[in-house]
Amino acid sequence: MKRLVLAGGGHAHLHVLKTLAGQRWPEVEVTLVTPYARQIYSGMVPGWMAGHYRLDQCAAALGPLAAAAGVRCLIDSVTGIDAERRTLRTASHGEIAYDVLSLDVGARVDSSMLADSGASLLAIRPLEEFVVGWQRFVDAASARGAARLAVVGGGAAGVELALAARYRLAGEVGAAAAEVILVTGSGLLPGHGPAIVGMAGKTLARHGVAVVAGYAAGSREGLQLDDGSSLAADGIIAATGVRPAEWLAGSGLALAADGFIAVGDGQQSVSHPGVFAAGDVASRIDAPHAKSGVYAVRAGPVLSANLQRALADRPILPYQPQRRSLYLLATGPQEAIMSWGGVAAGGAWAWRWKDWIDRRFMRQYKDLASA
Ligand SMILES: Cc1cc2nc3c(=O)[nH]c(=O)nc-3n(C[C@H](O)[C@H](O)[C@H](O)COP(=O)(O)OP(=O)(O)OC[C@H]3O[C@@H](n4cnc5c(N)ncnc54)[C@H](O)[C@@H]3O)c2cc1C
Repeated sequence: MKRLVLAGGGHAHLHVLKTLAGQRWPEVEVTLVTPYARQIYSGMVPGWMAGHYRLDQCAAALGPLAAAAGVRCLIDSVTGIDAERRTLRTASHGEIAYDVLSLDVGARVDSSMLADSGASLLAIRPLEEFVVGWQRFVDAASARGAARLAVVGGGAAGVELALAARYRLAGEVGAAAAEVILVTGSGLLPGHGPAIVGMAGKTLARHGVAVVAGYAAGSREGLQLDDGSSLAADGIIAATGVRPAEWLAGSGLALAADGFIAVGDGQQSVSHPGVFAAGDVASRIDAPHAKSGVYAVRAGPVLSANLQRALADRPILPYQPQRRSLYLLATGPQEAIMSWGGVAAGGAWAWRWKDWIDRRFMRQYKDLASA
C-alpha cells in the first residue's frame, strides 16, 4: 500500500478529490490535511461581502468530499516538511510519512508593514479569519452608523474587495457615511492592460471609492503613506502581495526565487520527484505565471494524473499553463468588468456570466459531497 498525502484543500486538490470520488486508485491510502473543514472559494468572496451570496454558497465542505473520495481527512495544519525523510510535521497529529506528497496550501499575505496600525487589520488570508473579521467590521460600522475603511493593494483582489466593501457599507450606514479608500502602491492593476485599468479606475470613481497611489505603513490613526500624509481608518483590509509559509524554507525542497516550491512541467518538484505542488504555493520555473485561482484550477487535472502516475512509477505528463486568462472582476452591485486579451467591457451581463461560472464551479463539489 502506498501513502499519498494531500496537504491543503485548495483548488487543485478539490479536483484530485473529485477524481478519486469517481474512481479510487488501487493500493493507495490517501490522507488530506486541512486546517479548516471547508474550502472558501475566493472568487465568490467579494459577492459574499457585498451581500449577494450566503457564505455556505461560497464554500466546499471538505469532510464529506474526502469521505466520497475514500480519503482520510485530518483537520490540522502542516507545520514542516522533511523532504529527505519523506515526512510532514503537523500541528497536532505529529509526523506523517508519505511516498508521494502533493501541496496545495496556497500563500500567505504579507501584511507586516501594516502591523503597527491602530485600526483593525483584516488580512485576506486565511479566508476563514477574513470572513469573521469582515462580519465584525460590518457589525461595528452598523452600530456606529459610519465606516472608514482602507483597502491596501491595487491588484485585482484589492479592487474587488474595495468595491464590494463600499457597496455593502453604503447599504449598512448610507453612502455619505461609508468611506472606502483604495491604496494602490505602484498603481492600479499592475501587469494588466490599459483597457481594464481605465475601466477599473472609472468604476471605482463611479461607485465612490477614493484611489490613492503610494505605499502605506500602519500608524496609530490608521495608515501613513510614503509621501508623509496620513489616512485615518477604523479598519484596513490587507490585499498586499503574497508570500510563502515560513516552513517551506526548512523543507529541503528546491525553492524558486520568490520562495515558493520550484516545480517543472508536470507540477513536480525539481529537486524531489515524490513531491508535487500546484496553485499559489508552486512556482513553475519553465513557464512562470501569475498566482491566481485560474491557474490553480487548471493545474488540477494534470496534478491528479501525475500523482496517480508517480504512485504507479509511471512517467509523468507535461502541462503547459495558458498564456492569457479571462478576468471577471465583481464591482459591488451585481455587475462586473470582463477583460480578455487587451479588451475590457462591463455591466450586469458580465456579473451574470461570472455568477454562472462560479456557481457551476462550486456545484460540482457540493453535489459530490451530498451524494
Ligand atoms: C478576495 C479574492 C478574490 C480573488 N478572486 C480571484 C478570481 O476571481 N480569479 C482568480 O483567478 N483568482 C482570484 N483570487 C486569487 C486566488 O484566490 C488564489 O490565487 C487561489 O486561491 C490560489 O489557490 P490555491 O489552491 O493555491 O490556494 P487556496 O485557495 O488559498 O487554498 C489553500 C488551502 O490550503 C489550506 N492550507 C493553508 N495552510 C495550510 C497548512 N499549513 N496546512 C494544511 N493546509 C493549509 C487552506 O486552508 C486552503 O484550504 C482572489 C483572491 C482573493 C483574496
